[in-house]
Amino acid sequence: MKKAVYPGSFDPITTGHVDIIERISRIFDEVIVLISEAPGKTYLFTHEERKKFIEITLKHVKNVRVDIYEGLTVDYVKKNKAQVMVRGLRAVVDFEYEMTIASMNQKLDSSIETMLVFASPEYYYVSSRGVKEVAKYGGSLNDLVPEHVRKPLLERLKKQAK
Ligand code: ADP
Repeated sequence: MKKAVYPGSFDPITTGHVDIIERISRIFDEVIVLISEAPGKTYLFTHEERKKFIEITLKHVKNVRVDIYEGLTVDYVKKNKAQVMVRGLRAVVDFEYEMTIASMNQKLDSSIETMLVFASPEYYYVSSRGVKEVAKYGGSLNDLVPEHVRKPLLERLKKQAK
């Protein structure tokens, strides 16, 4: 059984993430979307909220599940008997960061492979950070986040601004 883990913050899930998840779910028997902690980062949504958003968004894809993990992603991958870690690649700026993480993970556990998937052209500019900025200043969220995420995103930003 070929299993892949797709780790990230997903704060919140964007259409770019959805595109990657749908595409890799056609290649692997099982895909685990892993909400993982990046040290020093602050988040708009809790783990559980982010998990719910992803589950609702991807309920039509039967071989996808969502999990939360605090710790080294390679440890999670191994524990869950997956072989591959998937990361998405947008512009060139992502490359150096992704290469550094992949090399570190390779050093930690050489049995786990990192696979990079190119963003589809229509999503290469979409990031959770960019989406939050657009939402904050009242721009249209069409095609940027799943529909059911729009309202909670606007409400959370409003609450945060108070
Ligand atoms: P973000 O940079 O949006 O906060 P995350 O940490 O949640 O992203 O991203 C998880 C993974 O998804 C990373 O490998 C990231 O490069 C990738 N990713 C994010 N947005 C996109 C997109 N629009 N297209 C392809 N991959 C993406």
